[in-house]
Formats: sequence, structure tokens, C-alpha cells
Amino acid sequence: MGHPYKKLVVPAELSKLTNGKIPADQLGKLSCGGTAWKGGACGGAVFSFNLMYDHAKREGIELKAVSEGFRSYDRQLALFLDRYQTTPNGSQVTRKWNNATWYLKAGKSPSASPGTSPHGWGLAQDLNVQIPGVYDWLCKNAPTYGWYLQGPPSYFGKKNPEYEAWHWQLSDAEKPTKVVRKAWRKWVKFVAEANALG
Ligand SMILES: [Zn+2]
Repeated sequence: MGHPYKKLVVPAELSKLTNGKIPADQLGKLSCGGTAWKGGACGGAVFSFNLMYDHAKREGIELKAVSEGFRSYDRQLALFLDRYQTTPNGSQVTRKWNNATWYLKAGKSPSASPGTSPHGWGLAQDLNVQIPGVYDWLCKNAPTYGWYLQGPPSYFGKKNPEYEAWHWQLSDAEKPTKVVRKAWRKWVKFVAEANALG
């Protein structure tokens, strides 16, 4: 099974916008709370996540949010400034931002540089993976919905300092999975029929 991960591909539609500044009318509600991008093919991150959420629920697994899905630029900036410093401290987790190298402070969790986070595109959700069964369930089922980790726990036997077990993202929103496409077609048909009935 392993730890399924896939690098984020920013959809063309989103790359025309600014990370952390997605208009409210392109965001929709996630079943675990918070919001995410609902544009693009097959309802974006919202539809695929909520489908996955329902599947987990049917199997007695609760996908519980530990922070927001979509994160505004200002909030990402505040998080970043809380977690990183420009004074070297020996940390291997660094970021380039604002023409400087930033070092992760001791005891803090990594976060992306302002303007680059998958959360800023509305394509990620952090989940409580401390709840028994949740992480294994996600590793087994999330890819069915197009959701992945950002990276593996280790590279060539070396610990990956940026591995975040809680961070799940819709890595390639332009290529919805078969399961998502099928459910979306059903949903579109349902809405059309409901509208025809008035
Ligand atoms: Zn995250």
C-alpha cells in the first residue's frame, strides 16, 4: 500500500488567479468544515473530497479537519512568519521567500511560502490522522478520489523533513478519477432532472 503521494499540478483555470485570493464564488463547503475550490472539471476539490468523505463515513471512518482547507494569503503569511526565521538555526527545512532563505523554527510544523501553498489554491485539507484507522484508510482509498500526500515519509532511506501525514491534496484537479467522473455525471443528471421537474 505505502504512502501515496503526488506533486501538485495547478489547473490552468486556477493559475490565472492568485494563490490565497480565490474568489468566494469559486469556493464550496467541505463536509468536514472549511472550504475548497469547486471549479474545473467535476466540481474540483469540493466534489471529490465530499465523495471520499461519504465513503469513509460509510466505513465508520471520520475525516476530521485539523485546520481550514482554503487558506487566504494573509493567513498563510501569518503562519509562515510564526514558523520560519531568517537567522540560520541548523534546520534542514528551508524556504526561499522575499529574497531570503527562511529556516523552520524548532518545534514548528513546516508550511509553504506565502503564495505557493496548495491550501492557497483551495486544493488541500489537513486531516486528523491521530484518529485510529484514518491514516491507513486514506492511504488505501484517497487516490481513488485523486487525493494524495505531498511527498513520501522518506527518500532513499533518509527522513523527508517535509512529509506531513495530515496534509492531503487533490494533486491533479484537471484529471478527475474514474470514480469521481462517474459520480459527477450522475450528479449533473440528477440536478438536470430535478430542474426539469421544477
Ligand atoms: Zn496542509
